[in-house]
Amino acid sequence: MNEMTTVSYQQHAYSEGAKTLLARKPALFINGEWVASSHGETIAVEDPSSGQVVSHIADASVADTDRAVAAARAAFDDGRWSGLAPIARERIMLRLADLIEAHGDELAELEAIDVGKPKSMAGVVDIPGAVSHIRYMAGWAAKLGGETLQPYTMPNSGMFSYTIKEPVGVCAQIVPWNFPLLMACLKIAPALAAGCTIILKPAEQTSLTALRLADLIAEAGIPAGVVNVLTGYGHISGDRLVKHPDVDKVAFTGSTEIGKLINKNATDTLKHVTLELGGKSPVVVMPDVNVAETAPGAAGAIFFNSGQVCVAGSRLFVHKSIFDEVIEGIAATAPFWAPRPSLDPAAHMGPLVSKEQYDKVLGYIEAGKRDGASVAMGGDAPSADGYYVNPTVLVNVNPQMSVVREEIFGPVVVAQRFEDLDEVAKAANDTCFGLAAGIWTKDLGAMHKLASKIKAGTVWGNCHAMIDVALPFGGYKESGIGREQGRAGIEAYLESKSVIIKL
Ligand code: NAP
Repeated sequence: MNEMTTVSYQQHAYSEGAKTLLARKPALFINGEWVASSHGETIAVEDPSSGQVVSHIADASVADTDRAVAAARAAFDDGRWSGLAPIARERIMLRLADLIEAHGDELAELEAIDVGKPKSMAGVVDIPGAVSHIRYMAGWAAKLGGETLQPYTMPNSGMFSYTIKEPVGVCAQIVPWNFPLLMACLKIAPALAAGCTIILKPAEQTSLTALRLADLIAEAGIPAGVVNVLTGYGHISGDRLVKHPDVDKVAFTGSTEIGKLINKNATDTLKHVTLELGGKSPVVVMPDVNVAETAPGAAGAIFFNSGQVCVAGSRLFVHKSIFDEVIEGIAATAPFWAPRPSLDPAAHMGPLVSKEQYDKVLGYIEAGKRDGASVAMGGDAPSADGYYVNPTVLVNVNPQMSVVREEIFGPVVVAQRFEDLDEVAKAANDTCFGLAAGIWTKDLGAMHKLASKIKAGTVWGNCHAMIDVALPFGGYKESGIGREQGRAGIEAYLESKSVIIKL
């Protein structure tokens, strides 16, 4: 019997610790205090493994948002954080990283309950990733500085010129639901290292770990008002943050559609804006690969985190000589990727995050079939409860189909054949996105040629989604503006001031 039909979709019992956290009174974290929202409204929290409501979070109003901005503004202007010695900022950030690590199991469980991702996956990807971002950026706090410069048109004697790096100021950081804690830490880490203050707005579907992070932020000794956490709706509190005159920078990760809107809305106050947006990343498989290794790699590139990954390898291009073999190899991974409840220790893939996402993904699969695509694997939902979608491969697709052009953000890959390098480079670039790409080959010449032809912020060779905080990350084309991580990531939170003094 097919293993996928024998899985139990019953979510496992929550730990006592998780039950206590889920029972907390809905509150916003403003100026170091837990406060109710001004209108008392809340938002239901669902476990996508069961579809059950398991908690409630506060719904921040415009008035609450203004309060959080005022707190962050005051904390920035009086220098309670930026005025600390860099070694003090570094030490406090390292303490925060240690606390996140110490609470790793609890945070992984919360992420599993909230997002539907397997707890085991959150424990080895999301939590260590969050810790790494804070540890790496903590090191930058003590390594920032300008330079002494010799002006070009002025005499050397009698003039003294230098640059200083200063924090940008109050930052609104708006994050999506696919890696909630990891995205929150990726955002706050460079801002804290630079000396900025923050209003963090997690996605309304997945705010639990951001709220727990606020506890740890206070415990680590980050002063009140430096990091504020607002749960609520993007079109209300998020929109207010983007337009607020006292916010100096908006850092956004999310869909291209909302990213474009935010870019427009931030224009009136000319804020600094960085955007990490959607993708439709190509994975190119050359004829010389070991199929037994590459097919599971291509499967992992799309099915990890139920395909809800900005860099998901959602367009697969396989050389025509090995196309059938690779598709069979991917189909053979179905039992491994069969969706299971997020707290099932055997789960490698969980449900999708919400009913909305479930309907959207199944809608794309149906549209693909209507347009003439064939299902080589999956293509359906295995359970009436929860938001599970089976890992899916669509073949016989063409570049005009919505499944090929649009970001599905689910466990669905479209597979196409190619004959030569130029043809596949052109096909890989036939998209409005440019976030990432994967190339699988032993031919180093082909690897480098293709890596230079593909328009994407990150290119992987013989692996996928290997993201490291030391390397800049961001998108070409409609996948974003700016870079996060590495030196570029900290510089995005700094202003440069030139000082020219006549002695
Ligand atoms: P989304 O719908 O764009 O939402 C992202 C965040 O923006 C949420 O916190 C949302 O709040 C908020 N928001 C919504 N409308 C807003 C508005 N008018 N003003 C200000 N904020 C607003 O994205 P998502 O569905 O959560 O996440 C999936 C998308 O993120 C995919 O496209 C994926 O590719 C992208 N992503 C990109 C990267 C990257 O690094 N490039 C990484 C991860 C994900 P509410 O949810 O509360 O409405």
